[in-house]
Amino acid sequence: MVKDFATIDPATEEKLADIAQGGVEDIDRAVIAARQAFERGSWSSMTPSQRQRILYRLGDLILENADELAWLESLDNGKPVSVARVADIPLTADLFHYMAGWVRTLEGSVVPVSDIAVPGAEFHAYTLREPIGVVGLITPWNYPLLIAAGWQMAACLAAGNTVVLKPSEVTPLSILRFGELALEAGIPEGVINIVPGAGSDAGARLSSHPDVDKIGFTGSTRTGRGILKAIADSNLKKVTLELGGKSPDIIMDDADLEVAIPGAAEGIFFNHGQCCCAGSRLYVQEKIFDRVVAGISDYAKTIRLGSGQDADTQMGPLVSKNQENTVLGYIQSGLDEGAEITTGGHKVGDKGFFVEPTVFVNTNSQMKMVREEIFGPVLSIERFSGLEDLVQKANNTEFGLGSGIWTTDLSNAHKVAKAIRAGTVFINCYNVFDAAMPFGGYKQSGWGRNRGKEAFEAYTETKAVYVRLDGIHHTSFACG
Ligand code: NAD
Repeated sequence: MVKDFATIDPATEEKLADIAQGGVEDIDRAVIAARQAFERGSWSSMTPSQRQRILYRLGDLILENADELAWLESLDNGKPVSVARVADIPLTADLFHYMAGWVRTLEGSVVPVSDIAVPGAEFHAYTLREPIGVVGLITPWNYPLLIAAGWQMAACLAAGNTVVLKPSEVTPLSILRFGELALEAGIPEGVINIVPGAGSDAGARLSSHPDVDKIGFTGSTRTGRGILKAIADSNLKKVTLELGGKSPDIIMDDADLEVAIPGAAEGIFFNHGQCCCAGSRLYVQEKIFDRVVAGISDYAKTIRLGSGQDADTQMGPLVSKNQENTVLGYIQSGLDEGAEITTGGHKVGDKGFFVEPTVFVNTNSQMKMVREEIFGPVLSIERFSGLEDLVQKANNTEFGLGSGIWTTDLSNAHKVAKAIRAGTVFINCYNVFDAAMPFGGYKQSGWGRNRGKEAFEAYTETKAVYVRLDGIHHTSFACG
């Protein structure tokens, strides 16, 4: 019997749709379909020009259906339609257009080799770049389409792999519509398999499946750790992990505050703080501290909360009741540990998962709300004196995903960019994403990179081929 789960509108708490819930057997069937498609070569053996055109066409179809996809994203996730329309959807399409370009570069090289291992021998040696095989993707709810389709699937498909995707059970709608567009673009059946279902069930089976060759995971550090264990205990499949963050944003006293204050505010409040690289710890130089706290608190007060489908809304609800409880719990923990709120701190209304944009001062690095990822619209602001003090504070975290600095001093900007232990540094900007730039984490924010050349290469294997040219002789071998 088919089991269903409901997906909820987080603004009204009403059911949007019943979704068929895939479990262990469905994952097994999807892996068989992906394996057969891979072995048939219906995708990997297509000519590069055909694969490129199909991926490019898929990017076009995403743009042609942008209004519908943005609407689905807003209904399911809560984000404003306007944000999904200018950010999530065009960025997803761009990743398909960009990765389509990489299809033609799946090439090896001819390598000059020596005769140290086999004295006197002559070789023609070359490398081949090949797809890895069947890739399992497991993705979160904060950018449901962008992360599942854009960040993960585009690179994976460009390299010729086949896919089983387990999207977040909280936001399955846009990626299911994407599946239809993929078929319309000409991706052969069996190449993309989407199985909505629970993490503990479908997700766990995918990560421990013996016939999956790689996992591309985006989600929390805690789940990432569990996935690594499943991989270690099964077939040692390859893995890319994009995990959590607690990113420092920095305002130096020489910054242009007209730009830095709204910029740092958006660095945390964009997407309701539900960004993996959200600038959730703000460090402000002493001289301008009070002015920045007042400016950011005023900015937060003006943010209009409402349903993502209202044209006036600037911030929608959090994605789920769970997320609302988590965020309110962190706010309470900040208060319990002696931090002070300058604005926000409360749930709004009695329907929907709305939480006020919240700013804390009097925080320190020992507090739970400063150490742990909240993944909501909550900012802590601390002061720093000089660069040394700043770098120590900014790097005092187990994460290393994003970071930002606002300054007009070029030398400080580059010094800090070099000293911060994080995968991305934004200078006089925040939350800028481009298909060609790698994205990923230092420390416990992940392994590997999404987007850019790094992502494409991470979905390939390199094979080394030696051809002996001087006839067959019996010789000794130096083995690795
Ligand atoms: P999550 O870890 O709870 O879930 C992510 C996915 O993992 C979901 O599809 C879930 O069903 C699945 N899952 C859960 N338990 C599993 C298990 N035992 N085995 C296999 N799969 C399992 O994360 P979330 O709440 O959906 O998303 C928020 C988190 O994602 C935050 O920590 C955020 O920082 C992170 N994130 C990171 C990036 C990045 O690029 N680094 C981007 C977006 C989100």
